[in-house]
Formats: sequence, C-alpha cells, structure tokens
Amino acid sequence: MLLDGPGRRLRAAEVARPSAGAGEVLVRVHACGICRTDLHVVDGELPRPKLPLVLGHQIVGAVEELGAGIESRTVGDRVGIPWLGFTCGECRYCLSGRENLCDRARFTGYQLDGGFAEYAVADDRFCFSLPAGYPDLQAAPLLCAGLIGYRSLRMAGEAERLGLYGFGAAAHIVTQVARHEGRRVFAFTRADDRAAQAFAVDLGAEWAGDALGPPPEELDAAIVFAPAGELVPAALRALAKGGTVVCAGIHMSDIPSFPYELLWGERVVRSVANLTRADGEEFLALAPRVPVHTEVEAYPLEEANLALDRLRAGEIRGAAVVVAPAASQA
Ligand SMILES: [Zn+2]
Ligand SMILES: [Zn+2]
Repeated sequence: MLLDGPGRRLRAAEVARPSAGAGEVLVRVHACGICRTDLHVVDGELPRPKLPLVLGHQIVGAVEELGAGIESRTVGDRVGIPWLGFTCGECRYCLSGRENLCDRARFTGYQLDGGFAEYAVADDRFCFSLPAGYPDLQAAPLLCAGLIGYRSLRMAGEAERLGLYGFGAAAHIVTQVARHEGRRVFAFTRADDRAAQAFAVDLGAEWAGDALGPPPEELDAAIVFAPAGELVPAALRALAKGGTVVCAGIHMSDIPSFPYELLWGERVVRSVANLTRADGEEFLALAPRVPVHTEVEAYPLEEANLALDRLRAGEIRGAAVVVAPAASQA
C-alpha cells in the first residue's frame, strides 16, 4: 500500500520485490503494527515524508535475502524492524549514547519505506531479534508502542503513582510493565470512553477516568500518549511536587498557556523522541519476563485504510496490526 501525499488514502500497488544492498536484509513481512505516528504522516502533521511512501514501522518478518557483509543472521531468521532505521554514528548525539537524537537519523515508514507491503528492506544494524514466545501479530506492537512506551516510562523516573493519558497501544503495554515494577497506574481517557476505562482496569490500572478531571490522588509522574496539547496542563495539575510530565508522541496540538504555578514546585515537562537500539534490546528482553501480553486487532494489508480510520476515531482496543498476504504465522 502506498501513500502518495498528505490527506490521501493509501493506494494498493504492485511493488517489485526489492533486493538487499550491502549491510541490508530483505525481509518477507508477516505483520506490521499501526502507530499514531502513521496517522500523523498520513494527515500531513509530519513534514516532508518520502513520497510515494510505504508506511509502517513495527515490522515483523523473516529474512529472505542477506546483503553483502552480514554474518550474524541467516536466511529464515525472524527479525523486527523499528522506527529508527539509520543513524550517522558520528554526530555528538550518536557519540554520547543518544542516537535517538541523531541529526541525520532516518526513520522507517517516514523517510524509508516501511512494512505495509509484502517485503521490506532494512539496515541490519537496526533490526532486532524478537523474543520467541510472541507470535508475529503479538510481537509487532512491541516494536514502537512497546519501545517508545518503555523509554517514556524510564523518563518518568521512579514514580510510584503513574498517570497515563490516552489509553491506546502504548499505554496498554506500559500499564503491564509499570504494574510489574510495583507502580500504581491511573488511566486518563475521554470522559465518556467507558470501553477504554474498563480495558485499563482489566490490565491493572487501579483507577480510570476523565483526563480533564482531577485524579483520585496526586501523581508522581504522567505520560501523555494522546496528541492533545490541552492534556499537558491537565497532567501538570494532577502532579505532586517534583513530578514529571512526559510527552511521548512525535506530534501534539499546541499546548495552551498555563499559570507558572502549575510548573512551580520543581515539576518538569519533557518530550521523548524516538528510540535507541539499547532501549529496544532492554525492552525486548524485559517483555517476556513481565510477561507483556499485547492485545491486537488484525487487518488484512488491503484494509490498512480502515485500520487507520479506526485508530483516528479511537476505536482500536489495544494495538492494530496489518497482516501481509499469505503470511505464515510463527
Ligand atoms: Zn510508532
Ligand atoms: Zn548521528
């Protein structure tokens, strides 16, 4: 499926089977998770995507061809291809363990073709091995919802009382990790979204309710997954002194002005950008120990537009995943 430009529907297209260049792997796609970021690309909220573009950056598949110079993998290996598709390895960010901030980073399903296709090509250095206990569909959401959620949780520090704003793919994974770490989880959704609130409580949240209303008690940290700027002052208002609001999305509507009083008391507002390979390795080792269960809604590749519409409308329970034609599920 190809995106020709912002605001357009994805178009079914025959794409020739690519081949792997030096250092690359050609992967037969089995499944590809859908992320809020895909919607931001489709809706034109992220500038200058590659066009036409194959979306999708939570790719699970099997290596079908190895480019020159790859010795650590063999044909048939299952791999995961995440959002971070390339970094320069030379800039001040790369050299200080912050490759997620690399000036010349390139991202899968944005500047590089992604996984809404039968095949994907990726730089082998940025592919992950996946934990064996996860079938392809269940593994896909680990690759962005899981990784970015995990990085966001780390940025929340040692917070015992954790608020999650927006209860989609990432929050449903973070809740499980946070509970595993002994934290208390409070889920914030639209006031009338009873289904998301019930889902959050099922997964271990001790309270779920209106994102714009007060929490039952102060929070030590909050992670804002929903792309709505008005949630930032709402989350600050819910924080105890010294607490942090982590903005986990790549795009957010403007944050309304708020009184300094909300920030006073050493409260912090910060964003989380992308992922490092170290985040991925840590999280993919942790997920089976929790164990994280991902709840997925599967869509055939040709119904990717429907899945994107349902995500935009907030109708997905857990994570949406597109399944490539004739996929052999591990
Ligand atoms: Zn993503
Ligand atoms: Zn760099």
